[in-house]
Amino acid sequence: MLQMKKTASLLLLTTALISGKAFAQHNCATDELHKKYIQEDPSLAEKERQFNESIRRTLSHLDVNTLHRTTTSITDTNQIIDIPVAVHIMHSYGTDYITDESVYALIARMNNTYSLNYDTSSIIAPFKKYVGKANIRFHLATKDPNGNPTRGITRRFTYLTMGGDNQVKMDQWSPMNYYNIWFENVIGMGVAGGTVLAYAQFPSDFDARSFYDGVICAAPFIGDGSTIEHETGHYFSLYHTWNSSGAACGTAGACGDDEVDDTPPTIGHPSGCPLYDTICATNYFKLYSDIHGNDSLVNYPDTTNAQNMMDYACETMFSKGQVVRMRNLLLKSDVGKRDSLYTPSNLANTGALDAIPDLTPVSDFFASNSNKVQYFTCPGTTLKFTNKTWRDTVTSIVWTFSNGATTPTTTLTNPSFSSYVNNAFTDGGWVNIVMASTGNHSGTSVDTFNHSVYVADAVATPAQNVMAEFSTDGDFNKWPTFNYYNNEFKWQHASVGFYDNHSMMYTGFDSRVNPTLGTYPNTGTPKGDFDDFFSIPVDLSGFASGNCNMNFFTSGASRSSISLDINDTMIISYSIDGAKTWTTLTTLGKGDLLNKGASSTAYVPTTTSDWVGRTVAIPTAARKPYVVFRFRYLPGVDHNGYLVSTGNNFYMDRLNFSPFPAGVNDVKMGNLDVAVVPNPTNSNAYVVVKDADNTIAHVIVSDIAGKVIYTTQQQISGNEAHIEIPQSALQTAGIYMVQTTTGNQTKTQKLVVY
Ligand SMILES: [Zn+2]
Repeated sequence: MLQMKKTASLLLLTTALISGKAFAQHNCATDELHKKYIQEDPSLAEKERQFNESIRRTLSHLDVNTLHRTTTSITDTNQIIDIPVAVHIMHSYGTDYITDESVYALIARMNNTYSLNYDTSSIIAPFKKYVGKANIRFHLATKDPNGNPTRGITRRFTYLTMGGDNQVKMDQWSPMNYYNIWFENVIGMGVAGGTVLAYAQFPSDFDARSFYDGVICAAPFIGDGSTIEHETGHYFSLYHTWNSSGAACGTAGACGDDEVDDTPPTIGHPSGCPLYDTICATNYFKLYSDIHGNDSLVNYPDTTNAQNMMDYACETMFSKGQVVRMRNLLLKSDVGKRDSLYTPSNLANTGALDAIPDLTPVSDFFASNSNKVQYFTCPGTTLKFTNKTWRDTVTSIVWTFSNGATTPTTTLTNPSFSSYVNNAFTDGGWVNIVMASTGNHSGTSVDTFNHSVYVADAVATPAQNVMAEFSTDGDFNKWPTFNYYNNEFKWQHASVGFYDNHSMMYTGFDSRVNPTLGTYPNTGTPKGDFDDFFSIPVDLSGFASGNCNMNFFTSGASRSSISLDINDTMIISYSIDGAKTWTTLTTLGKGDLLNKGASSTAYVPTTTSDWVGRTVAIPTAARKPYVVFRFRYLPGVDHNGYLVSTGNNFYMDRLNFSPFPAGVNDVKMGNLDVAVVPNPTNSNAYVVVKDADNTIAHVIVSDIAGKVIYTTQQQISGNEAHIEIPQSALQTAGIYMVQTTTGNQTKTQKLVVY
């Protein structure tokens, strides 16, 4: 029998008193996400309604003296509720690489807040008696889901730290057993509407989104004193104090409430700290019936609780009503499964009440060049290896590098968190790195990182001799591929090809199914990923003058047929200084990459006609004796900005360098005066080409599959050249393509051999 008595007068007040524009800071995105979930799955709204109804029913009686509801276990606020916590640091080795110590400090601070062990003297008089003590304690888990010892922290290097939001919520430990908190570099949801510090997932969304359950926070706000406490309030079912307004925090005229009686209605306070604000709260009281059916009136403060943890302005306190709501969720409800966290068996399984163990350090590092992460290098080029070892204070690290490192072993004494070694290599091939990290408390951990860095060969291959078919028993291993973020999407060998059933494939088709639930597929490569492969070193000095092209064949498709949604690109860059610096050669867009339209299944080319020739002109500046090329594929996002690409598989093959462009599939007539005679032939043939004296005529003969079978060149004299194609090159009956080029003119013709 809950009665609201405030509405009529409040509406008048709000319209009269509020003026000026509302300023929405959007510093917590919990509501936005919740609304999106409900849009996608309307049954979640009913779940939420039922939960709120059950709390209202449970709390329909109030002891007006203690201000506690009369339900027995809820009023017993002395029972301490212990919650196991797992903190997942999603990082790019930058400022988002939060230290273990910062996490320990966070947990200590959360415990002070939820145990009311902090200075509450600044709380204004009307609310002093409503300050609530939740008696909830947080503990970093000391056992992981497999029962192995842990300090409750995981780390992952991922591009998704740059706003991946729900997609970056990897490494979740079962949300039935751990309260998961993620940190990422920046919250992506904030991009459109201002800075977002963090967001939580409400308990009522658990059934549909258990694999996202928990809180995620932008790394800079771990130490701000209230962000995680606020989000944890949401995690325990608390709303923003202005929630029912449905409007953004601080929206003029939009008084809202939060299912909690001792937090008066408010429009919320996006900034500043207006301690007294009567806009929505004047004459605010509630009428309750006690357990005997007698009505009692409670006159709550006639000012809003701007200092409430669930407002934005100056988050200082939870109210007693909020504590009741949180504890009711934990002790009396299975909505969100929070009631499985604090059970004795779960506390034992997660080791939540045990002392955090001393564990050996976890060695970690990243390699960089000019402050950019780089794992491909050339002999003699120095890479910087930055130590990122964690889980214990490190007293020394011994690095061991294979492959002729000029500094094979380096001992760091008293290494700081940012300690590093510079290193260069003399031999080509993969480099294995061993880090022996000694901790202050726990001994030495020896960690091996195989295939961490690839060093190109010291000797470049003349460009004329390069014909990459990407066969596993041939050149594939000399074109190293990198999957920087240890996910499944990368360049790899494909057993189909333009000519020889081998090619380089980018696996853009992603059919992952969430491993936690198995029923909510996430298709598409997430936004922001990129994967590289690199070429062998190429000697392009033979092409110092004239034309020089990089030619290759491609075959690709998308999953979407909507042009706006196809935004994959591939950036081809080159380096002429041993992979120290890179220059963009070209960026291929969808028109270049995806020649086969849309396919809802994983795309595989089946016939030669599925492939198209691509030509990229090499500028004179790149035609040096030692050049390496980098191929970087970036999945785009659809035009709604969802975090998935609509790409499918993409294949590359037959990469070579030539004065002539690719395109033997297309019969180009051209203006050149060329004849191939006799045609058809069952013997040899001649290319008769007419052009200016001293011009060089180049001839390339390919079979119908595109395989180059013969090339030659000849200087024209007497304005005409007769260039022989020997019978030995034409032993198989069929159709051949003869491409003749002089200067800038090219002509391709068919030659029939019988
Ligand atoms: Zn919030």
